[in-house]
Amino acid sequence: MIKVRNLKDTANEIPSGYGSWIAYWESQKGEATYCHRVGCSTTVDLEGAHVQKVSMHDRSWYIVPLCHTCNEHTDAFDVDINELVVVNPE
Ligand SMILES: [Zn+2]
Repeated sequence: MIKVRNLKDTANEIPSGYGSWIAYWESQKGEATYCHRVGCSTTVDLEGAHVQKVSMHDRSWYIVPLCHTCNEHTDAFDVDINELVVVNPE
């Protein structure tokens, strides 16, 4: 597990070559079928959320599927580190 935080105002720009951020995640991990916040696992209203590790050493942005409710959370939460897909700068 790793603690992450939602990034706010990460906006609407779409990754080049993909229809959405969740499509970008699915291109590497397969179909997104549930919310990846530990303790949630809702299967509806999934979004490709931008998150950042709660760490001084890694300021990269990552995508992970979250339900809409969890994507609105402002507190840090746990996800499986293997489910994070890094956002490569263009
Ligand atoms: Zn959730």
